[in-house]
Amino acid sequence: MARANAAYYATRDPYRDFATAPEITQVFGELLGAWAAVTWQSMGAPDGVLLAEMGPGRGTLMADALRAIEQTMPAFRAAMRLHLVETSPRLRAVQAQKLCQGKLGQATWHESAAELPDRPLLLLANEFLDALPVRQFVRRTDGWSERHVQGGRFVELPASPPPTGAVAEAASGQVVELCELACRLATEVARRLVASGGAALFIDYGPARSAPGDSLQALHNGQPADPLAEPGSRDLTAHVDFQALAEAAARAGAACHGPLPLGLFLARLGLFQRTDAIARAQPPARAAALIESARRLAEPDQMGRLCKALSICHPALPPPPGFAE
Ligand code: SAH
Repeated sequence: MARANAAYYATRDPYRDFATAPEITQVFGELLGAWAAVTWQSMGAPDGVLLAEMGPGRGTLMADALRAIEQTMPAFRAAMRLHLVETSPRLRAVQAQKLCQGKLGQATWHESAAELPDRPLLLLANEFLDALPVRQFVRRTDGWSERHVQGGRFVELPASPPPTGAVAEAASGQVVELCELACRLATEVARRLVASGGAALFIDYGPARSAPGDSLQALHNGQPADPLAEPGSRDLTAHVDFQALAEAAARAGAACHGPLPLGLFLARLGLFQRTDAIARAQPPARAAALIESARRLAEPDQMGRLCKALSICHPALPPPPGFAE
């Protein structure tokens, strides 16, 4: 999965295969920019804070966020430095084009979160974790086996070590997924936030509680496709185990808020008010499209429920916007 996705993002335009929230409506990035600005204030408005994004895709989320920040909190814009974590050279070029023109200014790119400087940090990541590779284990009557891919098919070999924790209760025949990279990232980010201050916001598809199930999927031209066919030619994703991430971050001393259903989180941030405000100044067809886009993010049967928002914070910070009861 790691090699297939590295090849995929290095060579393909992923937006032919799927649409992400920032590509659906400008309001998504604007709300996340406002989220970062308000959180920065609650940190005591530190100078030299990093505004970082993992897997920025086309840079749309960050362009919308920076525009909102510029308009609503120029002091944050002046205090922050933009850092982007992106492995695809192709997408780095697209991001530079979008984010480093004119007064939008400078950005620094990194291969991984470990390369970010030790500074107070505001980290955003939308649909990043679901692209990280998972391992799949299958509960058999005589123990656990692990799925490997050979010649375009799954083969099962004895698992060593077998999965532990809540998912180890799975019934015979069930599949359990582990995303070690995502858990390591949650630990790394939590350590940084505890040491230098700040908050991270992860938005992705997945259940709130760890649960067995095979969630590996491929999309090709917007349609479900065989995940094992033509590796590197289609986007592979798996659901994010938010409970495992939150537990990893908590073990490293950070505070966790959520996960909340995306619809609830965005509604609390003002998705519909902001959408209405923009729509009022638009011709009717464009206004209707904007309102439809907001619904697509918020409706439970679309992205509103399966997508979740999890925040990992320095333990002294109040719950960030959207997470307070
Ligand atoms: N956040 C964007 C894009 C999501 S697609 C949006 O909402 O539209 C996933 C993004 O993560 C792409 O930019 C891809 O190149 C990047 N990516 C995937 N695996 C990565 C990894 N291991 N390290 C850094 N970036 C990665």
